[in-house]
Amino acid sequence: MIILGSTGSIGVNALIIAKRFGMEIEALVAGKNIALLNEQIKEHHPKYVAISDEKDRYLVKHSEVFVGKEGILELLQKTQSFLVVNALVGFVGLAPSIEALRLGKRLALANKESLVVAGHLLDTSRITPIDSEHFGLWYLLGNRPVSAMTITASGGAFRDTPLAELPRMSFQDALKHPNWSMGAKITIDSATMTNKLFELLEARWLFGCEKLDAIIEPQSIIHAFVHFQDGSTTAHLAKADMKLPIAFALRGEIEEAILPSIDLSEIGSFSFQKIDKERYPIWEIKDEILAHPTRGVVINAANEVGIGKFYNREISILDLARLTLKAYRFFENVNPKSLDEVFEVDREVRQYCLK
Ligand code: NDP
Repeated sequence: MIILGSTGSIGVNALIIAKRFGMEIEALVAGKNIALLNEQIKEHHPKYVAISDEKDRYLVKHSEVFVGKEGILELLQKTQSFLVVNALVGFVGLAPSIEALRLGKRLALANKESLVVAGHLLDTSRITPIDSEHFGLWYLLGNRPVSAMTITASGGAFRDTPLAELPRMSFQDALKHPNWSMGAKITIDSATMTNKLFELLEARWLFGCEKLDAIIEPQSIIHAFVHFQDGSTTAHLAKADMKLPIAFALRGEIEEAILPSIDLSEIGSFSFQKIDKERYPIWEIKDEILAHPTRGVVINAANEVGIGKFYNREISILDLARLTLKAYRFFENVNPKSLDEVFEVDREVRQYCLK
C-alpha cells in the first residue's frame, strides 16, 4: 500500500498496523521530517518516496524521490497498489485524494479536509474514513432505519479554561489536548471545535445522514451514537487510540485484539455537555453549514489561514474563530459545483483572509 503523510501521527500508526499484519509498503510520502522518513525507508523498503521540499532531496536515503505537490501525484501514478492511506494534513491532501480515486484506487482517508471541501464531488463508495467518530458510526450501523447520528467531542485543550482567559491562550497552550495525541493542526481544531464541525460534514457525505449533531463527552471513550427510528440509541465505546479505526480501514475486518477492552467499573460514570457557543464561536454556524455543506471549503480555507496567524501570535484563538465566521459570511453564497471551482474558492478565501 501507499502511505501519504507517513511521518505524522496517523502515518506512524498506519505503519505499525501494516507491520503487524505483514502488509507491504510500496510508497511513502512525507513533508519535512526526513530523519524519520529515512528510518521508515530502512524498515519498510518502499519502492518510491516523496517529500515536500527540493532542498531536502539530497538528505533522503532513496533512489526514487519525488518532490512537491506534483511529485505526490506522479508517485501515485507510478504505483501499483490498490490501497492509499491519505494522512496528509490540510487542503494539500485534496489533490492526492482526487488522483487516487481517479486511478481507481481505494482511499483510507484520514485527511478529513478532502471531504470537508469536496465531499460532494468525491466517490465516497471507495473511501473508508480514518476517524474514530466515523468508525464508531460505521460500526453501529445495521439495516434498521436511522433517525439521527451524534458524535462526541472532547472539548479540546480549553474545555475547562475560564472564558476570560481564552484571549491570552497561546498556540502551545492549545496543543495540550486532554485525551488524544495528534498532529498540531487537528489539536488546534479540537480546541476551537472546528474539528467537530468538519466531522459533521464528513459524516454528512459518508453516511448521507442530515440529522447530525455533536456533544462533549470529556473522557473520549464514547465516540458515536446512532439513534434509530424505533427509539433505540446505540453507542460505540473504545479507548482513545487511532490504531483501531486504522486497522479496520487497512484490513476491512478485524477479528483480533487491537486495543484492550474498556473496563466500565473503572470508568464509573459518563457525563455529557452541550457545546457552548461562547467558548466555541464556530458552533454558531453548525446548523447553517449542515444545511449548505458545500460551503465547507470556505470554513477550511479561512481556518487554515487563521491557524497560521494564531501560530504567529497575530491573533488570539477567539479571533481565529471570528476570522472564519467573517469569511463564511462574506462568501456565504458560494456553492462550488466542480473541483476547479473548489480550488478557485479556496484561493479566493485565502486571499480575503490574508488581507
Ligand atoms: P500530522 O501533522 O501529525 O502529520 C501530517 C503528515 O503530513 C506528516 O507526515 C507531514 O510530514 C505530512 N505533510 C504535511 N504537509 C505536507 C506536504 N506539503 N507534502 C508532503 N507531506 C506533507 O497530522 P495527523 O497525522 O494528526 O493528521 C493527518 C490527517 O488526519 C489530518 O487531516 C487530521 O485531521 C486527520 N486525523 C488525525 C487524527 C489523529 O489522531 N492524529 C484523527 C483523525 C483524523 P512531516 O511531518 O514530515 O512534515
